[in-house]
Amino acid sequence: MTVAVYPGSFDPVTLGHLDIARRAASLFESVIVAVYDLPPKNLMFNTEERVALFQDAASSIPNVEVVSFHGLVVEFARKVGARAIVRGLRMGSDFEREFEMALMNRNMAPEVEVVSLMTRIEYQFLSSSLLKEVARLRGYYTNLVPENVLEALQEKLPLREQYLASQGG
Ligand code: ADP
Repeated sequence: MTVAVYPGSFDPVTLGHLDIARRAASLFESVIVAVYDLPPKNLMFNTEERVALFQDAASSIPNVEVVSFHGLVVEFARKVGARAIVRGLRMGSDFEREFEMALMNRNMAPEVEVVSLMTRIEYQFLSSSLLKEVARLRGYYTNLVPENVLEALQEKLPLREQYLASQGG
């Protein structure tokens, strides 16, 4: 069975991530979405929440499984017998970092290939961090996230009025 790992922070999963997972699922027999437990980032959702949100959003794709992982992606890929690491590539913003990471990963695990899928045009500008910023400011982002993430963001964030009050505004 050809297994691929799709790693990331997914804080939270967006329609851009989901599109990559769906397309990877049409290329590989099994896709394991690997949610990085402690990325060097300020997280809005804890590991369990990030896993549950992706699981729920991808529940209609039968060959996608979502788990958390700790440590190096290549070690996780080896552990689950993955042939490939899948990454999404947004025009401009991701290329250099992804290239660098792919070469570093190849240096450690030459048997695991990195497969980059080009982002669909409608999700090119979409990142979880920008999404959270817009959500905090109560902007419009309904068309960029799955339904369950929309609800989770609304629950997570205090009402705008409470937020402004807490900021002294
Ligand atoms: P990381 O912390 O690894 O960058 P992310 O959750 O931000 O984790 O992204 C995981 C993967 O999904 C990366 O390969 C990233 O380039 C890709 N990705 C992020 N946003 C999008 C998007 N809008 N469309 C497609 N792929 C995306």
